[in-house]
Amino acid sequence: MDSSRSEIAYKSVYAYVSLGSNMGNRREYLTSAMHEIARYDEIEVVAASSLYETSPVGGPLGQGPYLNAVALLRTRLEPVKLLEVCQRIEVSNGRQRDVRWGPRTLDIDILTWGQISLSTDALTIPHPRMYDRLFVLEPLLELGFIDGAGLDEERANQRFCELRADPSQKVAIVQDRRWWFRETPV
Ligand code: ADP
Ligand code: MG
Repeated sequence: MDSSRSEIAYKSVYAYVSLGSNMGNRREYLTSAMHEIARYDEIEVVAASSLYETSPVGGPLGQGPYLNAVALLRTRLEPVKLLEVCQRIEVSNGRQRDVRWGPRTLDIDILTWGQISLSTDALTIPHPRMYDRLFVLEPLLELGFIDGAGLDEERANQRFCELRADPSQKVAIVQDRRWWFRETPV
């Protein structure tokens, strides 16, 4: 390995992000988001969970069900830069910010960024509601725990068991981990 590569490896961290959509062609929005993320030189997609369908938690009544997934990234981007990337990709996939927790074509949240904890007006890491949502914990547990990725393993396991017993939080796998692979011509 040359020195520039080891320098990059030293500076990069694991980060978990969650993706969700409950408007329009939901799977297409999530697929295009994954491809846009993967195109950044400073981001590597290490793994993506299966695709889950979930009923909306909170927000206005009458919203359609969500498709959700979690991805494990390796990135050299600082947290705020990673948030900017997530928001740019949301906008390029039709996201409009009007009703809080209302229907959206694409939502990308940063769950963890390395082991860091921070809270500003624009960004809180770890994500403040990640341990309250089965649609986050179930795909996270599917991916497994990675050292240095900022997950509280005991808390995640405990909350997962509690939330699984909550009938208002139903999640079901609708497609395996290859959901975002696009056919490449042979
Ligand atoms: P939500 O994801 O809570 O349903 P939004 O996607 O509309 O709602 O995000 C509202 C704001 O939350 C964003 O403008 C962003 O600045 C802020 N935010 C705070 N922490 C995070 C985080 N960990 N990941 C993504 N956004 C965050
Ligand atoms: Mg969000």
